[in-house]
Amino acid sequence: MAEKRDYYQVLGVDKNADAATIKKAYYKLAKQYHPDANPGDKVAEEKFKEVNEAYEVLSDADKRAKYDQFGHAAFDPSMGGGSGFGGFSSEGFGDFGDLGDLFGGIFGSAFGGGRRTRNGPVRGEDIGLSLSVSFEEAAFGVKKDVSYNRVCRCRECSGSGAAKGTSAETCSVCHGTGQVRRVQRMGGMSFQSTAVCDACHGTGKIIKEPCQKCRGSGQVRETKKLTVSIPAGIANGERIALRGQGNEGKNGGPAGDLIILVNVRPHTVFDRQGFDILCDVPVTVTEATLGAEIDVPTLEGTVKYTIPEGTQPGTRFSIRGKGIPMIGSSNRRGDLYFTVVVEIPKGLSKKQKEAMAAFAESCGESNYTKKKQFFQKIFKK
Ligand SMILES: [Zn+2]
Ligand SMILES: [Zn+2]
Repeated sequence: MAEKRDYYQVLGVDKNADAATIKKAYYKLAKQYHPDANPGDKVAEEKFKEVNEAYEVLSDADKRAKYDQFGHAAFDPSMGGGSGFGGFSSEGFGDFGDLGDLFGGIFGSAFGGGRRTRNGPVRGEDIGLSLSVSFEEAAFGVKKDVSYNRVCRCRECSGSGAAKGTSAETCSVCHGTGQVRRVQRMGGMSFQSTAVCDACHGTGKIIKEPCQKCRGSGQVRETKKLTVSIPAGIANGERIALRGQGNEGKNGGPAGDLIILVNVRPHTVFDRQGFDILCDVPVTVTEATLGAEIDVPTLEGTVKYTIPEGTQPGTRFSIRGKGIPMIGSSNRRGDLYFTVVVEIPKGLSKKQKEAMAAFAESCGESNYTKKKQFFQKIFKK
C-alpha cells in the first residue's frame, strides 16, 4: 500500500477550512478526476479514489476530529498489514472499494449476481420537474408543454462510445466481463473476490477511438419537449409519472421516468378541500334580513342562489356538483360550499341613519332571539 497523503493536502485546503470550502474543493477535484472524464487514465483513477477517501473523512465532523487527532491510523487498524480494510464504505463510489468487492465476491452469487458491474444494463435516472397550473386548470385538466434536459443515448455512435466506423474492442484483460478474480488472504483464510477490471473500468470494452460527440461516454444531454396532460381534479403536490421519459439507460437498460410535481396556484376566491370548493359570499344586511336571490361564484361563472329570510352571518350553503371533478371519474364532482358574510353598511347619510333608528325603535326583543337568550343565560339563577 502506498504511503497515504495528508487528506487536507489531497483536497488542497487549509487545516482550518470550513465544511463549505472542503465541499467546494472536493467537487472541483472529483469532477477533474472522474473516470468518465478520464477513460483509461490510471493516474486520474487513483487521484479520484484519493479525493473521495479524503472527502469521506473531512466531510464528517466526527471522522475529521479523529483524523485530526490520530491521522490515518484512526481509520486503518491494519496500517502496515495491507489487508485493504481502510475503514471506508464504498457506497456511493461503488466501484472503488475493495471491501465491497470482497463481499460481493463471497456472497454475490447467493444474492443475485453480486455487485453491479459497469457493463450490465443500468436503468436511467428519474427526472423531477415541477409544473405550476392555475386552480381552474387543475380542476378541469389541461395540456402543458414542458421542456427539460435529459441524458440520452448518443445518436452519433448509437451509445457505443466508439467513433463512427469503429467499434469498441472486447477488453483482453477481463475478456469483456468487466471483472477480474482476485484472491485475498486474511487471518489464514483465502477469500476469492471479484474486482472491477482496471483496464476497462468494468465496462468490458476498450474504446480506441472515442466518439467525438459524446467523448466516448455513449451518452449526451438533450433538451426534450413534451406535452403533458394534467388530469381534471389533480390536487396541489400530486405527482404524475411519465414512464420512460427520464434519463435513458446505459448498456440497454430502460429509461427512467419523468416525474411531474404539480403545483396548483391558489385561487383568489376559492379554497379546496378534497373535491369540494369553499368560498365566502358577502351579502347586505337587507338581503340577509329579507332573503334575496344572490350571485354565487362557481368555477364556471356565477349562478343565482336564493338565501332565505333571516339568514344569519356565517350560515353555510351548498350547491351540489359544482366542486372539483373527481380524478379518474369525470362525471362525478365535489360540491361548492359558500358561507354568508353579512356586511354592515358604513358611511350612512343622516337621513339613512334616522331611518335605521326608526326601524330599530319598531323592533321588539322578539326580533332578536340570540341577544335575548344571551342575557337570559347570564342573569339566570
Ligand atoms: Zn476489462
Ligand atoms: Zn457518441
